[in-house]
Amino acid sequence: MESGSKRASWGWLALLIWLGGCATAPAPQRTPPPSAPATGEPVVAFVGVSVLPLDSERVLADQTVVVRGERIVAVGPAASTPVPQGATRVDGKGRYLMPGLADMHIHLLPGEGTLADPAGQQLALLLANGVTTARALVAAPTALALRERVARGEVLGPTLRVAGPSFHGESVQGPEQARQKVREQKAAGFELLKTHGGLGRETYDAMVAEAQAQGLPVSGHVTPDVGLARALEARQQIEHLDGYLAALLPPGDAAKVEQVEFGEVLTRMDPARIPALAEATKQAGIFNTPTLALFEIVASTGAVPELRTKRALRYVPSATVDAWSRELLSGPLAEAPAAGKHRFLELRRQVVRGLDAAGAPFLVGSDSPQLFMVPGFAIHQEMEAMVAAGLRPLTVLQAATRNAATWFGEANQWGTVAPGQRADLLLLNGNPLEDVRLLRTLVGVMVRGTWLPRSELDAKLEQVAMAARATEG
Ligand SMILES: [Zn+2]
Repeated sequence: MESGSKRASWGWLALLIWLGGCATAPAPQRTPPPSAPATGEPVVAFVGVSVLPLDSERVLADQTVVVRGERIVAVGPAASTPVPQGATRVDGKGRYLMPGLADMHIHLLPGEGTLADPAGQQLALLLANGVTTARALVAAPTALALRERVARGEVLGPTLRVAGPSFHGESVQGPEQARQKVREQKAAGFELLKTHGGLGRETYDAMVAEAQAQGLPVSGHVTPDVGLARALEARQQIEHLDGYLAALLPPGDAAKVEQVEFGEVLTRMDPARIPALAEATKQAGIFNTPTLALFEIVASTGAVPELRTKRALRYVPSATVDAWSRELLSGPLAEAPAAGKHRFLELRRQVVRGLDAAGAPFLVGSDSPQLFMVPGFAIHQEMEAMVAAGLRPLTVLQAATRNAATWFGEANQWGTVAPGQRADLLLLNGNPLEDVRLLRTLVGVMVRGTWLPRSELDAKLEQVAMAARATEG
């Protein structure tokens, strides 16, 4: 074969090279894969994956994403993006890679962060559902220490952001005390202030002024003593769509509107006022965390049997599930008129659609754990409720990723999939831009560069389920 074949073989080689040329761009000069620099940092590569940067509906097909330590270092076509030697390779074929989720409204439970304590179980449930950042608007006294342990890598969990103890009518008496409390919370290391309202205008104004002086953002409820217009002017980030329903009443109608309102006053609310309120929200640059799913449970009728079938409840002690059931089956929530509940929920959805139409930004908050909102699982309930209210999947996914980073003023550090960004990533079997329920097809979660494949997530979930059962003796 040699002689004849030799000429012939040359022929083949020439042919091969030539062929290579025309099919695609000249074959990339593949540089030998760089060896992992001796940083000792782990290197992980997602190979052949579809990347969702979530800056638009675009899908970057067949990419390689390289993570070194806690940072994404490369995102590019798999054909031309080398995988460093010694890297852990994660098969991305037929899968989607997006930024990790930020739950911007959790109640952080007490504990050191081990799976034996409530905080540790909560962090495990959050991670197992793709939550890589969590903002605690209500937190146990152990929260700041836990935040530091997570940040130092001693405890595996979502990056924690912690608000100080709430400012409300019972916790703060007068403007001077409000200023003092703001200064104390700043000194203690809290990153934002939470208000449950009821402060009275003068004290509220003092809290806001001192917060601005200390560089602390304010998030929370809007009660009638302040009202939506003042909250927007104060640049307060708004939870639960507070203040919007009251602002739908005709001028001069001084009816007191509760946060959960099923009464006759709802019939005097005019949705035609929504566009102006939404535009004012947009102009003020205010982010809304609508917490739709929790309020839909609160305003539900006869939902307990179906709610008790939720798989997520295997991670909650049955005594808690029973308490949640009782709360819905008896008392004011059970006795409220169905028509009022329906109008309440419909007005809230109209406000959400109005805010979206004006381009006012959203955050995603589950307000868990509460009333059949189980940590981690609750963010999916919330995102699905936001889509059911009329928002596009892209809008909801951005609310749970890029918008959260933007709200913290850290969009250049996390919230998307790009070189230099923190490696908080979700690998999915389905494209959530098509349907946010596909967020439940998690293959694995990466948090600050630590890769947790399905098997590890399931093992954590099993331990939390056992802990929940163990409380039942
Ligand atoms: Zn809350």
